[in-house]
Amino acid sequence: MSVESPYETPKSSLIDVLHDDICRNGRYVVIRPDVEWPSRCFKCNEDTILKKEVKLTYINPWIYLSILINVLITIILALIFRKKFTVDLPLCERHVKRRKNFLIFQWTMVAVITAGIIIGSLTELTFFLGISMLVLLMVLVSAIFGRLAFAAKYKNEYIWVTGAGKEFLKSLPEFVA
Ligand SMILES: [Zn+2]
Repeated sequence: MSVESPYETPKSSLIDVLHDDICRNGRYVVIRPDVEWPSRCFKCNEDTILKKEVKLTYINPWIYLSILINVLITIILALIFRKKFTVDLPLCERHVKRRKNFLIFQWTMVAVITAGIIIGSLTELTFFLGISMLVLLMVLVSAIFGRLAFAAKYKNEYIWVTGAGKEFLKSLPEFVA
């Protein structure tokens, strides 16, 4: 015979997916910025207590159209109308480590680029400059695609966040608009 203590923390992580403040919509997690995330890894759905502070910036896609007029206008509009959110993304130890390694890789590449540009301009060997530009492009592309999470949409106080793992998405209730 056992009596459940009300002071005991719930063992099942299912408890924290029962509210509708965090849902899924296709490959997006739909969440209000002020809502606390469940204690499961955003990438692999493993139980975790680790959280990583991530800044999400949302820029209305229409703003990108102004690039046809002038890039400077696009930048100014983006700076004025962007919305910034800070979320505490739950990540397991493995994914925190993976994230750290990725950032170390990125910064190493930035060091390689800087060295390449310096050597290239000192020795006037365009080979080094060429390689630097190539690596720079790789770093930019990997920075865009390697992002942990990204705000794809902001509507009615909900943000649509991309980057979540399949299992994590599956555990969330379907978003009803
Ligand atoms: Zn994980």
